[in-house]
Amino acid sequence: MEKVLEVKDLHVTFTTYGGEVQAVRGVSFDLYKGETLAIVGESGCGKSVTSQSIMRLIPSPPGRIADGAVQFKGKDLTKLKESEMRDIRGADISMIFQDPMTALNPTITVGEQIIEGIMQHETISRQDARKKTLEMLNLVGIPNPSERLKHYPHQFSGGMRQRIVIAMALVCEPEVLIADEPTTALDVTIQAQILDLFKDIQKKTGVSIIIITHDLGVVAQVADRIAVMYAGKIVEAGERREIFYKPQHPYTKGLLNSVPRLDLDGADLIPIGGSPPDLFAPPAGCPFAARCNFAMEVCDRVYPYKTHLSRDHHVDCWLQDERAQKMLAGVK
Ligand code: SF4
Repeated sequence: MEKVLEVKDLHVTFTTYGGEVQAVRGVSFDLYKGETLAIVGESGCGKSVTSQSIMRLIPSPPGRIADGAVQFKGKDLTKLKESEMRDIRGADISMIFQDPMTALNPTITVGEQIIEGIMQHETISRQDARKKTLEMLNLVGIPNPSERLKHYPHQFSGGMRQRIVIAMALVCEPEVLIADEPTTALDVTIQAQILDLFKDIQKKTGVSIIIITHDLGVVAQVADRIAVMYAGKIVEAGERREIFYKPQHPYTKGLLNSVPRLDLDGADLIPIGGSPPDLFAPPAGCPFAARCNFAMEVCDRVYPYKTHLSRDHHVDCWLQDERAQKMLAGVK
């Protein structure tokens, strides 16, 4: 499979009066052409900071990409000048945020906003930009697009506004689309429609998608692969079926046990006790140790190495170590 984006050992910090917050601590992953990668985890785990770092949208200061690389089309995005990044944003990599109103200017018609976006990135006549806008509004399911492009954002429902934002993000045919909690602000039925729209558009355009979410229901519907983040690290990643049916990290298992599952009839919901560690001073060992029912002495002291279980499935947990496996099997 063709790799379109490569994030390597990314570290992001925020300098505050209280000290330095290590929000992202060595995140690495690849994104392949035409796939959907979901990055999941609790609030504050670093998933949105990771996606904003790819786009170089971290406010700096206080934020800073302290180390690592984001390889895209032979370039390391972390090293580009702001003017070079402006050319990439929207044209090659686009982003959709949770609240569509933050991405739309309430004083300009939606048609004008999309046309302006196209003309910023492409050498194209206004007439052709309008034609492209109509095609895109049609593709995202806005009825009667030639009339609707004259309307202002407040004249659309929440679901329709998110469709418009998706149209804006895709109109310049980017290779990568990053969607940060794209359905959180929407009703459940509209959520399902928007997720179907993502799948439909991906089939038609071949765009690679990164979805950032805390919602495993969203992940189950759209993801090809899943990366589970905890305390600034990817602690487990794999294909969707591997994560849902063969999770290995106790945190991944905890996440799955804490949401209702239609495939597990009558199973009790079990919340994960405790709270994530303080990222001002993250622990030297496994950051999940204080909440983990399987924690061993080594977990507090040393961060576990990565164990590869299949081509895509890997996990950072001492339980994968041969010695722990023997103990679990009752062999001394
Ligand atoms: Fe639990 Fe230890 Fe695995 Fe961390 S490394 S998840 S504390 S068993």
